[in-house]
Amino acid sequence: MIAVTKEERARELYDLIRACRMCALAETRTRAVPGEGPLDADVMFIGEAPGMHEDQQGRPFVGAAGQFLTELLAEAGLRRDEVYICNVLKCRPPGNRDPLPGEIAACAEYLDLQIDLVDPLVIVTLGRFSMARWFPQAAISRIHGRPATVDGRVIVPMYHPAAALRQANLREVMVEDFRRLAEVIARARSGATAAVERVRWSDDTQKTHSAAPAEEAVQGPPIEDASISGAAGDPGTGPQQIPLFE
Ligand code: SF4
Repeated sequence: MIAVTKEERARELYDLIRACRMCALAETRTRAVPGEGPLDADVMFIGEAPGMHEDQQGRPFVGAAGQFLTELLAEAGLRRDEVYICNVLKCRPPGNRDPLPGEIAACAEYLDLQIDLVDPLVIVTLGRFSMARWFPQAAISRIHGRPATVDGRVIVPMYHPAAALRQANLREVMVEDFRRLAEVIARARSGATAAVERVRWSDDTQKTHSAAPAEEAVQGPPIEDASISGAAGDPGTGPQQIPLFE
């Protein structure tokens, strides 16, 4: 039968994910975690991969990081049940290790299909691995909380809530970023995507990215002259300018 409604397409997709064996994580997972939320959500949050609790329950962000995410959503004026939440990987890496490039590649089409299905106005990436999908060379410590428009959609890179649980000094940073997110969403909903700022990738940003894990390198207040390159949709063209909100 050909699926025609969003709900039918989602059911098919989730069934595919739960049965997927396209990478080795299928051998060690308890349950795959497709994602959840309204299929017409304006805002989609994309994390890294399921952890232990998510693996057991088959739902995203249900552990301590998920509780903190729910608090952060409130700072942005959002309820958890009005946003769509998923991960780059749908199955838990053993010991919560970082996703491997081959795993990310194997799982990428599922995320493509979810983005296509929900078609959100705003995508919030949580952590380095989802950020890298749009800004593969950027450092999260430099661009967190700064919205960019990529292929007509607003992308907002944020730290992963688990990073704030490991590093107390990130907690306030994330709260501030989420408070600003409320305005970003309001502007996106009103269609006000006026480009007001031009940004370029700089040597300094690249150095920060390569010197240390980005989530551990918090450097002062949000940058005014951000640097982003290699955004999806224009790969391989070197430094490029991306319009940001004010
Ligand atoms: S992580 Fe993704 S590609 Fe790998 S088995 Fe799970 S659903 Fe399939």
